[in-house]
Amino acid sequence: MSAMTPEQIEVLDASLAARTPQEILAAAFEHFDTPDIMLSFSGAEDVALVDMAVKIRPDVHIFTLDTGRLPGETYEFFDDVRRHYGIRIETYFPYTMAVETLVSQKGFLSFFRDGHAECCQIRKVEPLKRALDTVDAWITGQRRDQSPGTRDHLPFVQIDPVFRTQRGALVKFNPLAAWSSADVFSYIIQNKTPINPLHQPLARGGGDYRRLAGPAYVSLGCLPCTTLLHPGEHERAARWRWESMLKKECGLHLEHTDT
Ligand code: SF4
Repeated sequence: MSAMTPEQIEVLDASLAARTPQEILAAAFEHFDTPDIMLSFSGAEDVALVDMAVKIRPDVHIFTLDTGRLPGETYEFFDDVRRHYGIRIETYFPYTMAVETLVSQKGFLSFFRDGHAECCQIRKVEPLKRALDTVDAWITGQRRDQSPGTRDHLPFVQIDPVFRTQRGALVKFNPLAAWSSADVFSYIIQNKTPINPLHQPLARGGGDYRRLAGPAYVSLGCLPCTTLLHPGEHERAARWRWESMLKKECGLHLEHTDT
């Protein structure tokens, strides 16, 4: 375990500004050793980060959250990634009783009426808290260009503004912060990583959604809350399409709320 002060984090963040994602990952592993650092994998284009991390630290500790509502293709993809790299993916599920209560009281699609925060809190945020309670630092695939208004100033490393562990402050590394969606897909194509079947059309078109000729899946999440992206739209438009752009976070990274 290697505790870091806010001042040390600030200095490290400044020093990572001109570094590649691989160099940022290497810095993360220099400061925190397995199993005190964990990499979050959502079953989407963040496979690029898994690929980079496994090449640096084959014993990297990887986890995911299974909300129970993911597309079938994403479950296939998790198993492809597991087999391809020969890795274990620690999988966290929501508490059964919390899901049973929500669905029994409000139905399977309450998020269309009540907003997605309540369902995301139960299916994503609470399991994430449990996962993060076991480590001192985590690595995410967050990017600045991913969500207008909420990720514009994302640092390469920060004290997690949302979560703490029982042991104290949690450090969060964001090695892809300065990359665009096109950079990530370009890495995936060049390195021939496994790819979520839902992303195949985008990859076949070169991987840059801003050049889409027709609808395609770009930002992936739970099945009911993910839609096709249309040419000219920002990637985040395809998630929770019935809500405004500034509400399009699931609570995993929001600074002002856990939901
Ligand atoms: S993304 Fe949709 S289905 Fe998934 S946890 Fe959030 S509200 Fe529920």
